[in-house]
Amino acid sequence: MLLVTVVVYVTAGEEQLAMSADVQPEGGVLYIVATPIGNLADLSDRARQILAQVDFVYAEDTRHTVLLCRHYGLQPVLKSLHEHNEQQRVADVLGRLRNGESLALVSDAGTPLINDPGYRIVTACHEAGFLVSPVPGPSALVAALSVCGLPTDRFTYHGFLPARASARRQCLVEMQHAQATQVFFESRHRILECLQDVVDVLGGQREVCIARELTKKFESVSKGPVLEMLKFTESSADNQKGEFVVLVAGAGPRQALLSVENQRLLLDLASELPPRKATAIVARHTDLDRKYLYEWLLEHKDS
Ligand code: SAM
Repeated sequence: MLLVTVVVYVTAGEEQLAMSADVQPEGGVLYIVATPIGNLADLSDRARQILAQVDFVYAEDTRHTVLLCRHYGLQPVLKSLHEHNEQQRVADVLGRLRNGESLALVSDAGTPLINDPGYRIVTACHEAGFLVSPVPGPSALVAALSVCGLPTDRFTYHGFLPARASARRQCLVEMQHAQATQVFFESRHRILECLQDVVDVLGGQREVCIARELTKKFESVSKGPVLEMLKFTESSADNQKGEFVVLVAGAGPRQALLSVENQRLLLDLASELPPRKATAIVARHTDLDRKYLYEWLLEHKDS
């Protein structure tokens, strides 16, 4: 079944500007509202007005959302909607939309559905033909991309990497030839392990950016070869505190060519043989250009 939801702005220009100045939520619409990721001043004016005026707000953790609402003097009717009860809430949400109520969905921080609950609800609304409308705003993902200084024209977002070391390493192995910037969330409990895995799987020279505590008091954005970033993060307990987004530079054309296994083989051979001999052996077994392998080896043999 093809589902098409169309929002029509009848006229452009002044009317749209007027709309943005005085927001009136519509009945039968579910608004997906982004909230601050640290700095409470980052709630948009439209988000504030929607939260003030909708009939009902579904929140990942109502205790958390109450604090935001209190800060803005808002008193919406709140109901919890989290990963454990999302499916049960579907009938409730659809029933209210059928009654013509206006609803908002918020998560604890940032944009709902970006590694936060809401996917099942949004899908159910689409299937039932209700309009789902975004109220965009903060997201740790986009905030980190905007300051990382790595190419952002193409990126791959992985959410959280698996907690189990072997599964996490496998994810990194799958990233090793990707040329787009790779982005993932990481918890403070695993940030060191994770950076060590990046060193082991992608090599210590791969550029990474660590975006920590964005928009908060101890915000820091650090970038460099991952081995240096690991040492920097290890060097102080403070560098391991808070919330993290890790961004890994895509493989350059050279890294994209030479798999990590072959990099290891080349480095291993070069530890026993002269560089030209080691290069010749790997070239014979991989069909890679000898000159390219030789230059790669000279660049990496001490790393
Ligand atoms: N939906 C949220 C968003 O759009 O930002 C992301 C939710 S996800 C469950 C939470 C993770 O996002 C954190 O564990 C952390 O990795 C990252 N994160 C959230 N806030 C952050 C911040 N202020 N600075 C850096 N990373 C942050």
